[in-house]
Amino acid sequence: MSSAIGVDVGGTKIAAGVVDSSGLILESLKVPTPAQDPDLIVQTIADLARQLGASDSVERVGVCVAGFVDRSRSGVLFSPNLSWRGVRLREQLQEALGGEVVIENDANAAAWGEFRFGGGKEADDLLAVTVGTGVGGGLVLAGELLRGGFGVAAEIGHLGLVPGGELCGCGNRGCLEAYGSGTALVRATRFAAHKDPVAAKRLIERASGDIAAIDGPMITEQAQLGDEFAKTQLAELGAWLGLGIANIAAVVDPSLVLIGGGVSQAGELLLQPIRDSYLKALSASRHRPILDVKVAELGNDAGLVGVADLARNSIGE
Ligand SMILES: [Zn+2]
Repeated sequence: MSSAIGVDVGGTKIAAGVVDSSGLILESLKVPTPAQDPDLIVQTIADLARQLGASDSVERVGVCVAGFVDRSRSGVLFSPNLSWRGVRLREQLQEALGGEVVIENDANAAAWGEFRFGGGKEADDLLAVTVGTGVGGGLVLAGELLRGGFGVAAEIGHLGLVPGGELCGCGNRGCLEAYGSGTALVRATRFAAHKDPVAAKRLIERASGDIAAIDGPMITEQAQLGDEFAKTQLAELGAWLGLGIANIAAVVDPSLVLIGGGVSQAGELLLQPIRDSYLKALSASRHRPILDVKVAELGNDAGLVGVADLARNSIGE
């Protein structure tokens, strides 16, 4: 059974693991991302891979990053969270490790991990949506990751939904991410709590009386206790995601959508509003098959597991 190393480089932490060919993590390491020092990030990735046996017992290394990866999968065009602009990541890591390295976008890698070993292993095609600080997306169509003409396909967080709407981290206005992310959920909930503190009473109590301290897990926990105010906040988030999914379905028609990221812990409290909103926005919804919306299965490991599998499959071909 051949193992590969997967490394997931996020804005706050870098996770690395040895993954076997059935998607099982055999050994793993995690360190904070030295986000202020782009060169040190590359060094840290190489160090983690070495510690896990790269260029020794495990020859294959895959690295996924939060950012735009170019079509040739060799460089990172842009990663705001890592302060990377045009970093030749594959070349630098191959030099450091003395072997082949595969680079992938983190949301693509997560979609691939779910497709191979998680919630999508029975599907031929799927859309994976990660709802966290932002909204990440990855598409597998007919068993292949969709990368697009320039390598940056499936950036679904930046679907334009509201002309002139809320400012997005990308600099544009009205993107799905500005309405459908965990960050947007917290912002909208705090705003609604200010407007109607009576309705939000229980949630404000949970935040020790400080509306500014309300966070995502508090909203989910409160909703799970049946709190109508918190449930409404999740439902509104789900409505935005469902609208985005209907727009994507109009173009690529996936049969399955997997929702991951912290907010997915809300389960049906988020999924049902997504399904309702998707159905409402879908054209001719009574005359076509309806896609399935489920919670992703691999959690935070999806990217690491997915990119290790991509490395195992692509190197040596
Ligand atoms: Zn945007």
